[in-house]
Amino acid sequence: MPTDHPRIRTTEEYQYAYRRSVENPEQFWADVAEPFTWRRKWDTVLTADLVEGHNKWYEGAKLNITENCLDRHLSTRGNKLALIWEPNDPKIRQIRYTYRELHQEVCRFANVLHNNGVEKGDRVCLYMPMIPQLAIAVLACARIGAVHSVIFAGFSANAIADRVNDAQATVVITADGLERGAKQIPVKRVVDEALEHCPSVRGVIVVEHLGWPVHMKDGRDVWYHDEVQEVEKTCPAEEMDAEDPLFILYTSGSTGKPKGVVHTTAGYMVWADYTFRNVFQVEENDVYWCSADIGWVTGHTYLLYGPLLSGATTLMFEGVPTYPSPGRYWEVIDKHGVNVFYTSPTAIRSLMAHDINHVLAYSLDSLRVLGSVGEPINEEAWHWYHTHIGKGRCPIVDTWWQTETGGIMISALANITPSVPARAGLPLPGVQPVLLNQEGQEIEGNDVEGYLAIKAPWPGIIRTTYGDHERAKQTYFGVYPGYYFTGDGARREADGLYRIQGRVDDVINVSGHRFGTAEIENAINQNNTVVESAVVGYPHDVKGQGIYAYVICRDGACDDDISRKHVEASIIETIVAEIGRIAKPDKIQFVEGLPKTRSGKIMRRILRKVAEGDTSNLGDITTLLDPEIVEKIVEGRK
Ligand code: ATP
Ligand code: MG
Repeated sequence: MPTDHPRIRTTEEYQYAYRRSVENPEQFWADVAEPFTWRRKWDTVLTADLVEGHNKWYEGAKLNITENCLDRHLSTRGNKLALIWEPNDPKIRQIRYTYRELHQEVCRFANVLHNNGVEKGDRVCLYMPMIPQLAIAVLACARIGAVHSVIFAGFSANAIADRVNDAQATVVITADGLERGAKQIPVKRVVDEALEHCPSVRGVIVVEHLGWPVHMKDGRDVWYHDEVQEVEKTCPAEEMDAEDPLFILYTSGSTGKPKGVVHTTAGYMVWADYTFRNVFQVEENDVYWCSADIGWVTGHTYLLYGPLLSGATTLMFEGVPTYPSPGRYWEVIDKHGVNVFYTSPTAIRSLMAHDINHVLAYSLDSLRVLGSVGEPINEEAWHWYHTHIGKGRCPIVDTWWQTETGGIMISALANITPSVPARAGLPLPGVQPVLLNQEGQEIEGNDVEGYLAIKAPWPGIIRTTYGDHERAKQTYFGVYPGYYFTGDGARREADGLYRIQGRVDDVINVSGHRFGTAEIENAINQNNTVVESAVVGYPHDVKGQGIYAYVICRDGACDDDISRKHVEASIIETIVAEIGRIAKPDKIQFVEGLPKTRSGKIMRRILRKVAEGDTSNLGDITTLLDPEIVEKIVEGRK
């Protein structure tokens, strides 16, 4: 009988847990880890090294994460739904797996991997639509100790080749095709193109999803449905060391060449489960939905591992928020009775721009907790989400974290710690944030701002960047030795809550005054006609840096000069009122869209280049959602 993990229920319990996690981290994290299934317990809870970046958790322990996600629940939750799959096309039947069924599917896929020569330690890349077999294949890799590296299905052949080669993957798992909204991608064909440049790959396993014709290369490609015919329904889990790598995930690349972030087994498991359970406060019979793609870290930790470790029912959605109508998310919530919903500010903003009747058509009665991740959520979007989706009764957990942190670091715990617009909130137990000045000294007290760094390792901390530890060291540990450097700026408000200001590189310094881009964008977005905006700095003779704002208006609202002038004036008026004259943009350019990574983040380095007038070399744009938008922005430059 598995012991269920205790969870924080009150503010006092949060404070107590937080204090213990700082005063005696080893005892604290030993207690948290206790209820998991271990083949062997650890010898040492923590070996900390924030100078070289060699941090280790639970060394000496032996385990398999899938025994904790699946086998552990079979006796008590075998018939409980583990995974609900909602297809892109609402007319197609949803698919549901109980814990017992999911366990069996994972075992079968694991046996197929074995039969195709995949062994413990091998790297397997997955380039797949958001179908159940993606979740199953990820867990199957973990079952046999192979290191999974999921590549978002939408990246170009070049981007795949870069990642496959960096990881030296031996096997790739893909499907015949993908449908996302009205868009279709022949994923197998893209993989074929990529693999022309990937000598390490010996085999490709293809899942049939849409029945599209594909070319199968002799001696390399096999169909999953053929392979699975012959295999057993059980597969013993490989015994892994605590610090054996679990996965590599390449970060989205908003700031440059993608880095292969490596997470290991035991620490990541404990962190994924602990953060999921405490932040979202999911109850036993809840349906939980994280709308992120498994190609992003959010999909890894909060669609897959966190919910399954906790024995929750997790919903996986193949489509997009606006297909077949902008009411799709809300329809899915009503259809499945979703209680906890976790999405991104970019999705919220895109839905806000549509007629409110798309929301009003649904009851949304089941919702209890809402979450946000990916970038600072601006106040407009926060209020819309809170009022129209949460009907004023659901707390919003604004979760700050990074691929490198493995799980949520700063956030409200739903209904327990404060949820305030534009504030991520308080650190989770185990997280010791500090604000540093440029010299790397800690800034004490409240009502202060600086570079956000973390003072002590937590179980989900990045272990290395694949094949290049020096890069990890320089990026995260060498900047201010003794601290994990996040690259983000933050403000600790008078009440001690953290407000994330955006990336340090994005801070704009106007005549000695420092502004976070989020702060100015927040003010611009308050204008009714504005859907979204992005602000960057550019060199300015007098002020050091000037402010350049890119603004998207609601349909038709800024089509002529007069309305543009009008909107410009009101944007400036809000900024002056909210922040001050000093933050007034020097240039405002109206655009149709913004260059975004596929996870919905604005690629500000491109906008900075355009603002600087340096458009000859815009750098790597292979991870952009819509590269054409860049040309339009360059043409419309002021
Ligand atoms: P790269 O590191 O390759 O440039 P990336 O940083 O966009 O890519 P992620 O790890 O997905 O890749 O994103 C983490 C970053 O997203 C954080 O450093 C922060 O800037 C931003 N972020 C995430 N969640 C929040 C949040 N709730 N509030 C504010 N910012 C957030
Ligand atoms: Mg980052």
